[in-house]
Amino acid sequence: MVTFLQRTFTSLVNAHVGRTQGIKPVRSRSLGRRKKHAAPVNLSLEPIKFMPTILTHAAVPLALGLGLGVRIIPKQLLWAGIVASVIPDLDVLAFRLNIAYSHDLGHRGVTHSVAFALVVALLALAMSQQLRSSRAVAFSFVGLSAVSHSLLDMITNGGLGVALWWPWSSERFFAAWQVIEVSPLSLSRVFSTRGLAVLQSEILWVWLPAALVVTALLALRIIGSNFTFKRDAAQKRVAP
Ligand SMILES: [Zn+2]
Repeated sequence: MVTFLQRTFTSLVNAHVGRTQGIKPVRSRSLGRRKKHAAPVNLSLEPIKFMPTILTHAAVPLALGLGLGVRIIPKQLLWAGIVASVIPDLDVLAFRLNIAYSHDLGHRGVTHSVAFALVVALLALAMSQQLRSSRAVAFSFVGLSAVSHSLLDMITNGGLGVALWWPWSSERFFAAWQVIEVSPLSLSRVFSTRGLAVLQSEILWVWLPAALVVTALLALRIIGSNFTFKRDAAQKRVAP
């Protein structure tokens, strides 16, 4: 079991850096120009290597959940959002089934599409009672969390692009602005130059904006509660 998980984790890491056995580079669209995926990187089996990337995908639901508070995003819904932000990368199992990276069922294929995010959102809508939320909030929060995964992948500078519009198109897309370094990390490499560059780009382009979103939402909530308090106090004063 451990060996299987290690292989799966390594497939995930390899996928993010474009290393796939026997798979030719395919072209991905990036704002009208075409680009080949990153050069192969030699990796060993160390599960910890891909963890920062997985954790970074959870930044979006965490920021929204913490910013909006438990009354809007209860704990159960927050966890559903975190799961939705991570599950698209389960498609690395395709490597174990010898499915090509560039195939629709390959990594960054079907599970990274808007259609997949919609299905996940509809599932959340159906489970809104269990998630202690309204249908609209469950659908919106989980759907946004799922699609955020694809959008973050699109601004990484490794692997293939994302099949965003599957099943209407199998074309892989990158954003024109690819700022997040995609690289494996291991405890032994965290303090290497490349490892620090990856951490720096994820902090700068994902975690820092996420912290700003949390701060902005908290400020709005405080302003909103102060306004409500003053309005209620005024109504009490004029009431007979
Ligand atoms: Zn992904």
